[in-house]
Parts: sequence; structure tokens; C-alpha cells
Amino acid sequence: MLISVAVPVPFLDLLTYNVPDSVAVPPIGARVRVPVGARTLTGCVVRHDALVEDGTDVKDIGEAVDREPLLPPSIVDLCRWVADYYVAGIGDALAVAMPPGARARASAFRKHRIATLSVMGSEGGRGLTPKQSAALQILSAAPAGLPTSELRERGVTPAVLAGLARRGVVVLHDERDDRDPFERAAMMDVAPDAHRELTEEQQRAADDLFELADAAEFRVALLHGVTGSGKTEIYLRVADRIRRSGRQVLLMVPEIALTPSMAALVRGAFGDRVAIHHSALSAGERHDQWHRIRRGEIDVVVGTRSAVFAPLDRLGLVVVDEEHDGSYKQEETPRYHGRDVAIMRASRERALVVLGSATPSMESYHNAVTGKYTRITLGRRVLDRPLAAVRLVNMRTEYADEGPEVVISRDLAAAIGDRLAHGDQALVLLNRRGYSTAIFCRQCGDTFECPNCTVSLTVHRARSGKGWRARCHYCNYSVLVPTACRKCAAPYLEHAGFGTERIEEHLRERFPEARIGRVDRDSVRRKGALTQILSKFAARELDVLVGTQMIAKGHDFPGVTLVGVISADVGLGLADFRASERTFQLLTQVAGRAGRGERSGEAIVQTLYPEHYSIQLACRQDYPAFFEREVMYRRGMRYPPFFALINGVVRGRTFDDAMQQAREIVRRLEPAAAAGRFIVLGPAPAPLVRLRGEHRVQFLLKGTRRADMRSALLQVVSAMPEIRRRLTIDVDPLSVL
Ligand code: ADP
Ligand code: ZN
Repeated sequence: MLISVAVPVPFLDLLTYNVPDSVAVPPIGARVRVPVGARTLTGCVVRHDALVEDGTDVKDIGEAVDREPLLPPSIVDLCRWVADYYVAGIGDALAVAMPPGARARASAFRKHRIATLSVMGSEGGRGLTPKQSAALQILSAAPAGLPTSELRERGVTPAVLAGLARRGVVVLHDERDDRDPFERAAMMDVAPDAHRELTEEQQRAADDLFELADAAEFRVALLHGVTGSGKTEIYLRVADRIRRSGRQVLLMVPEIALTPSMAALVRGAFGDRVAIHHSALSAGERHDQWHRIRRGEIDVVVGTRSAVFAPLDRLGLVVVDEEHDGSYKQEETPRYHGRDVAIMRASRERALVVLGSATPSMESYHNAVTGKYTRITLGRRVLDRPLAAVRLVNMRTEYADEGPEVVISRDLAAAIGDRLAHGDQALVLLNRRGYSTAIFCRQCGDTFECPNCTVSLTVHRARSGKGWRARCHYCNYSVLVPTACRKCAAPYLEHAGFGTERIEEHLRERFPEARIGRVDRDSVRRKGALTQILSKFAARELDVLVGTQMIAKGHDFPGVTLVGVISADVGLGLADFRASERTFQLLTQVAGRAGRGERSGEAIVQTLYPEHYSIQLACRQDYPAFFEREVMYRRGMRYPPFFALINGVVRGRTFDDAMQQAREIVRRLEPAAAAGRFIVLGPAPAPLVRLRGEHRVQFLLKGTRRADMRSALLQVVSAMPEIRRRLTIDVDPLSVL
């Protein structure tokens, strides 16, 4: 029999092999060893009874690894859909669903830093030292990249890698450092209250969801509940109902390290038959969890986006908490959206989906308005706690009165002082990390730009505490800022703009008695640091927490009665179609962190654009009004949810090279566009025209029939096989920057 096998090679389609008559046919979802070129790889059986044209040379499979399917056939099917919808290779999609260790390459990687070749590197670097060339050689045999620790064992020193990174030949990726949810949950001591009575509004919402759950059909419900309305309690009740009916529950959360209480609550409610699934568990832990799920020992899986592929076989409910959150989208191949895959999965397995948010995505709310989803609303906080009162501070007035150096307005400073005096807690949000956005020479204006990317470097305090380090947030390139200007020898002195580090410093000077912590990607780099800061804050060992959007997400700190927002308009400057939506969400969510305990809360929002609708409406916490306003813009500009987008980025060693390739793709797309009712915009220089040493050119497909757009693109790309390595396709991009 001929079978189709997916192998872990980027962009490769299914391959066909023969199973000799003497060998038992491996089932769909089982692993087999197969010859690919000169190598033998472990692949996954995707289809039986494959067909090939007459005269095609078909090789025999090697040994079968599994007798029983490793992946349930339903998950194999889901991965086929993901590969197809997101224009990725089937092997890439299956890799996400496989347990760690199932394939050689999946095991060791994803630890600390990973080095990969850039496009420049894969075309061979010039003028390299012998050591650098040797490193390049090693890396070119590892398309998925290698951990720097492994490279070091093979004689590639950090200095050699750093040299290659500076030349843009090698890219160093920082791995995310999430932590085990229970590490903090244990300290948090969240006792779920099984006998707590639901409020009237919660009860009504729960009853509506019970009805949907009992139908045991595919349904999507949008649970739109203001911050603090008690959505978690409802998830738990519906989950319990599903579990009692003999079906299983998948509960998706954006970033588990930021919402450890959810994991703890679920564990408290459902005991041992709960698995926590996320990328930061060690490979061994993930392996164990995965196999427990696969063996059917689990009723409830709590996890981040990749949990959507958990091998549950009696799925009855998927909850997507904070469904608007951008971290559900994977920003590397396959570029899937966890929420959307969840909906697709549920539709195949006849499960109920509950999307929960105080600030739903435009897409989901639109579907609720048009009746595609059932809308369930929680308009009030539990126990009639009021939403935080929000006050705007116009920073133009503040500058006029107090001078251009002002960072914290008079109102905000007074409010913080007041909270400190009363022993309450405060959150201060600035969605920009670092100390300043630039440092420059006072005499000649010289400043620091990234040699690999079209961005200026962000200035951080050097780790030694003395002096400054300028760092690229895209490629990690960094330099110590010398004391004298490289060009004119005058001292570098002037800082422009400010980030969280500067706010922290400023608050320490101003309130020396306050205990202040900071949460941003820099401060939580060290293992366990995030857990530590958040639990200290929860235990009220800190008074003020300064941070980026990480502090706005889902936290429930009852001691917080004040939220300050510095530069509410940071995100509005971006020429991105979701800028207003993101700003509205961030402000509403962060304001929602205040006043969740017994004392009511207040938010003070500093902005240069107090009249902007997303700021105005976030202050009123009026989601429906924001939706109405934003929908007009989206419709007028032909953006989602009315039009689908596919973003393509071509990378090249030179700009001209990238442009020429992109032009060719666009030229070939045009006939299909004319026939298929979509339009192609560009090619044009991407907003980040140079990134990690590569030049980038972008084009955008816009239309109402995604399938036409996808198949046209696929056709063009398969006729230009050499382009795949250099082309990134993003279906339903969250951002086109
Ligand atoms: P949301 O996710 O909607 O912002 P949460 O689920 O975090 O809200 O609930 C907010 C707070 O209200 C939590 O501290 C939770 O324990 C509490 N809570 C939820 N439901 C009830 C209830 N029925 N009675 C009392 N407190 C409740
Ligand atoms: Zn850079």
C-alpha cells in the first residue's frame, strides 16, 4: 500500500512511500522511519491509500516506530488543516502537536539561546575568520538552529557567535522563560471556594452556557464580561458540568506565568486529573504530561496556545480566556492563532467554545453581533464593586506648567503618595522597556543605531550598575555606551524618551520609603524572577509595581487601588491597523486591575492625545461604543473583520534582490487576483526594512475569500521553489509592521 508521510523538513509537502506487503501498514498518526534524499528521518503517517502518477519511483518505508498511533487521527487532521490554512508545511504543523522527544530535533532545542543562520549566512559569509567559517559550517547542517550551549561544546565560543551575529550572518534567539505555574501557585495559596454562590448575573450566564454545553454540539459563545465580573468562576462551573458528562475540557490562557492563579484554581477544583501544558516545562515534564493526556488519565488541560493540540479524545469544551490576547498567535511557522485553531478543532469534535474577555477582539465581537456566536454579557463586577474611576491627565498642559522633563504628573504623584500613606498598592504601566529610547552626544548629536536592523538602540542601565548599554530589541545586538563620543570625543549625555527602568528610578527618588518592583522582559529574564516579583506583590511586600503590558494581564491583586498609566499613547504612533484596538484593550485591562478588593479603585491616565477615541472610550470602559467606532474605520479601510489579509515578506541579501523577487511574486499573483476578487498591495519596503541583517520587502493580499487568496499564493510559490526559504507568509496577521 502507498502511504503519505509528513517529515520534519520546513515547507515540505507530504511524501509518498510504499509499505511492502510483508509489513503491517502503520496506522495514521504512527511514526515511521523513511528515507529522504540521503538521510533517514522520522515522519508521521498522515494518509493511507495515497496515489501517485504511473512511473513514479516510490521508495519503501524503513522501520515502523509505533504500532499504535502516537497522535490521535483527529489531531493529524487538525494539523493538516493548520498547514493548509496557514500555508505552512505539514511537517511544521505536526511538529507543534508532537510530544517532546518524539522527534530527534524536538528534544534538545528551546533552551536558553538558539543560533540560526540568517539568509546571508546560508548563502555563505565573506571575509570570515577560520573559526567563524567553521561555526557556519556546523550551523548550515542544522536548519532549526542549535542551542548556544551545544555550539560551545563543539568549540564555537560565545565570542565567535557574537562576531557572526554582528555581521548579520547568524541570528541569536532568546528563548522565553516562563515558569512552572505551580511554583508560584503553591506560594499563592489560592483556595477555590466550591460553595461560593454565584451572583445573579453570573448564574444567568452559567445557565446559558449549561444549555449550550448540554446540547453537545459545536457552538461558540462569547462571554463578554467587564474586568472583575467573575468569568473564571463561570469557566470552572461549565468545565465541571462537561467533566461530569464524561467529556474533557481544554482551558487556554495567554501566558501561564502571568496567570498562575488560573492553574491553581483549576487544580484545586479538579484535583489530579488536570494537566498543565506549556512550552516552559522541561522536555521531560511535558513528555509525561502529554502521555498522561494521551492515555486518557486527564479531564482538564490548562495551557497556552500549543495546548490546542493536546491529544484529548473526548473534547467537550474549549475555554479561551482573554481571547483578544496577541500571544495566542504564533509568530513563527506555522503562524497559527490558538483561538482560531481551537474553534476549528471544536467544530470537528462537536465541542462548545467559550471565548472570554472584557475587551473582545474585533473579529469575535463582530461574530457575536452578526449572530454567528452566542453573546453572553456580564455587565457588572461581582458584589457590586464599582469599576475604577478613570481620570485623564493632559500631558501638554503638564509640560506647559511644569517643564518638558515631567515624567509623572502632579495628579499621579499625589495619588501614589496617598496610596503609600494608606498602605494600599499601585500599578504603574508604561508599555516601553529600557531606560531611554536613545542616548546621544550633546555636541554632535551622534546616536546608536542597530547595524542589523532599521531601528535605533534602546538604552538600558548596564548590568554593572554603572554606565549604559544600548541594545536592539529585535536582534539582541548590544554595545556598551562609551564615555566619550565615537565621533567628536565629547561625552554622551543626553537621553531621549523614557522606559520602565527610568520610571522605576524616578519613583525610587521621589518615594524613597516605598518598596518598588519592576516587571518587564528585562527584569524577569532570570529564571524564577517573574514568579518572585509577582508573589511578593501579591503578599504585599511591595507597594508599587512598575511594568509593561505584562502587568495589565488578568491579575487579581485585591490590594491595588490605583493604576497609573504613563504615555497611554505609546502604541498609537504605530501605523498599524490594530493600533487603536490594542490601545483600547491595554488601557481597559490595566484600569481593570484597580479596585478588585474591598476598597474601590482609581486609574490615572497620562496622555498627549486625550481626545483620541480609543483613550476616551477606554476611560469610560465603554466597549460597545469603541466597537461601533472602530468598525467604521475597519470597514472603510477594508480591514478585518470585513476583509481577510495575508502578509508576505521576502527577505534578501540586498534590498534590490528582495524587491525583485517580491515583484515577481506579485506579478504572478495578478491574474488570480483579478479573477479571484482579491487585491495585492505592494511590493513595498517593509516598515522594518532591515531586520537581523536581512533586507525585507512586503506585499499584502486583501480580499473576502481567503481560500482563493491562499491557493493563488500557494500556486505561485510552488512554481518558485527557491523562494520558500526567503518568504514568510502570515495568514490573518495580527500586525503588518
Ligand atoms: P474576571 O476574570 O472577570 O476579571 P475574576 O474571575 O478574576 O474576574 O473574578 C474577580 C474576583 O471576584 C476574584 O477575586 C474572584 O475570586 C471574585 N469572585 C468571583 N465570583 C464571585 C462570587 N460569586 N462571589 C464573590 N466573589 C467572587
Ligand atoms: Zn538589531
